[in-house]
Amino acid sequence: MKSARAPKLTPHEQTVLKLLSHAPKPLTAYAILSELHPAGFRSPPTVYRALESLLKKGLIHRIESLNAYTACNHAEDHNHISPFAICNACGTVEEINSAAIARAMKKIAGEFLAQLEKRVLEFSGICHNCAKKHRSA
Ligand SMILES: [Zn+2]
Ligand SMILES: [Zn+2]
Repeated sequence: MKSARAPKLTPHEQTVLKLLSHAPKPLTAYAILSELHPAGFRSPPTVYRALESLLKKGLIHRIESLNAYTACNHAEDHNHISPFAICNACGTVEEINSAAIARAMKKIAGEFLAQLEKRVLEFSGICHNCAKKHRSA
């Protein structure tokens, strides 16, 4: 089972994953391309291929409402349903890391869908930090 935990990555995939792991916020494909231009990424298809493959391997998530990508923060389970909390003010995105929620979501999805293709659940609003700032302003 060890090999399933550490999927083999191409150098391009490693570079993209590293960038996303260190980014404070989710990045769009365009932002990734311009960040990685010095690293030899010259065309959008290069970025999209790496992103597609990382998505399939469960190492990153696509935040649909932002059209952006973020590294998964619990890469030990490549098959989870991930709720995200998105702050509309500062753009912070938190992956809600709850095995109980993931299990419940999987069960609910399984009752309606024979095959699950997208595992995305997004909540958006104002994060605690921004709410505090707003209150004290
Ligand atoms: Zn995740
Ligand atoms: Zn915020």
